[in-house]
Amino acid sequence: MYTVEEMRRTIAHHGVRLTPQRSAIVEELIHFPGIFSVADLQKRMEDRHPDLGRATLFRTIDLFVRLGVLERMHREEGEDGYIVGMAGHHHHLICRVCGEVRHIDFCPIVPDIDERVRREGYAETVHRFDIEGICLSCRQKRDSKQKKGSQGPKGLKAGSSLEAI
Ligand SMILES: [Zn+2]
Ligand SMILES: [Zn+2]
Ligand SMILES: [Zn+2]
Repeated sequence: MYTVEEMRRTIAHHGVRLTPQRSAIVEELIHFPGIFSVADLQKRMEDRHPDLGRATLFRTIDLFVRLGVLERMHREEGEDGYIVGMAGHHHHLICRVCGEVRHIDFCPIVPDIDERVRREGYAETVHRFDIEGICLSCRQKRDSKQKKGSQGPKGLKAGSSLEAI
C-alpha cells in the first residue's frame, strides 16, 4: 500500500500538479485501511475542507485511479469502493464484513495468458482476480459473539443471522 510520500511521488512522476486540494486529499487517504466510498472521504474532510464538493472529490479520485494511486474495487455485495493502491501487478483479498483489503503479490493466472490473448488479437489487456472472504479478526469477533449468543435468545438471533453469511 502506498504511503503518503509514495502517492505524492507517483502523482509528480506522471507530471500531474499536486494542488493544495489534491494534497489535502492524499493526506486523508492514508486514514482508510480498507474500502471507502467518495461519501466516506467527504465526511472525513467536510469540517476542515468545506470547499471540497462531491464533484471535485469524484474528479480527483478518478484521476488518482488513473495514476494508480487508488484502485477501484468491485464487491459482490454492496457498493463498489476505492482503496489506496500498490505498485506492481497484484491481486486482492477482501473481507466482506469489514472491508479490509490486502494486496497479494501472487498471480494465479496461467503464465502464457499474454500469448493466448495476443492470439485472439488483443493487446494492452488487464485482468482482475479478487478473493472475498472473512478476515481472521472478523471471524474471531463472530465466534465470540456466537459463544455469548448460546446463553440467551438475543444472541441466538445474532448467531442465526450470521449463519447465513
Ligand atoms: Zn474483516
Ligand atoms: Zn491493489
Ligand atoms: Zn495477475
